[in-house]
Amino acid sequence: MDTDTVFFVPWDISGNMLERSKELYKRAGTFDVVSPGDKVAIKLHAGELGNPNYVRPFFLKHIVDQVRSLGGKPFLTDTTTYYPLQRNNAVDHMETAVANGFGFAPFIVADGLRSENGISQPSPDPLLSDVEVAGAVHQADAMIVVSHLKGHPLTGFGGAIKNVGMGCVTKKTKLEQHRLLDLVVHEDYCQGCGTCVEACWLDVPRIESDVMVIDSPYCMRCPICSSVCPEGAITLENRDRILHGLSVAAKGVMDTFPPGKVSYVNFANDVSTVCDCAAAQGDKYIKDVGIFASHSPLSIDALGLEHIDYGHLNRLHGVDCTEQLAKMAELGTAGSRSPALEKV
Ligand code: SF4
Ligand code: SF4
Repeated sequence: MDTDTVFFVPWDISGNMLERSKELYKRAGTFDVVSPGDKVAIKLHAGELGNPNYVRPFFLKHIVDQVRSLGGKPFLTDTTTYYPLQRNNAVDHMETAVANGFGFAPFIVADGLRSENGISQPSPDPLLSDVEVAGAVHQADAMIVVSHLKGHPLTGFGGAIKNVGMGCVTKKTKLEQHRLLDLVVHEDYCQGCGTCVEACWLDVPRIESDVMVIDSPYCMRCPICSSVCPEGAITLENRDRILHGLSVAAKGVMDTFPPGKVSYVNFANDVSTVCDCAAAQGDKYIKDVGIFASHSPLSIDALGLEHIDYGHLNRLHGVDCTEQLAKMAELGTAGSRSPALEKV
């Protein structure tokens, strides 16, 4: 299977993008991963309720239909989120998926009701203690990873690597990745105002002797408290480590599939500065680009980044998005940081 080529259809405002996507999958061999009888996980991000930036359901419907026509048993899947918005548990997640248009196929929340369904796998790198793969992903025979490209305040960019590394693991491994960041409270700046205490959704910070203190193992290193602090007293540091953690977790998940049983599709339309998981949609800073397909998360994200002005995301979010690629390559992932591009 060729992992060094990425196939691409440009976003054509005068054409039918569903028909164009069918040509793309044919050329890329997207469905070659499916054998008759396979339980096929179609990994997507169902979108946060109220944020319109996610892959349109009709594209997923075609993928489901195509898997069925090949004798596979497709199911849509995603995992519960660590943060308490609309997809924090399986019930709310499934309701969100239906509300966002994904009620046309079985939607299985891969890590269970409250993220209790995970299978620990060895980590391919000492950065993580292990990789707890969401049960339904671990048990699938094949997977098609459908990702929507976007910016992200912590990881700079989200594509296929993030969809697998953060999106196919349990809350335990999500937390471990986030805690690769260091949260630093600059005591000289802190005025003890308590704004961060009110803003934290996990009730983690407290004020002691007029200074904010965080010593809980549950602090998820989200950017909420640092973004509301009026004094700039909270910073998240060692940012590269969470990008590397994403890649380590992604490799750990991929290693549970036999070679040739996972393919990737990246949608670069409605690309915004923030993640689909945010309640607010963020700024759509570039025109719609197109759809990519490949058999390597490294190759597909490398070309996606090239096409969505990742320098803008680097400057905005203060990270180097390409660190995700560097770590994937270091881990020996099949594919290339400079793959060939074939236009369809
Ligand atoms: S919001 Fe900032 S200044 Fe206020 S208590 Fe928290 S860290 Fe200190
Ligand atoms: S980073 Fe701040 S807001 Fe987020 S969980 Fe930790 S203390 Fe709470």
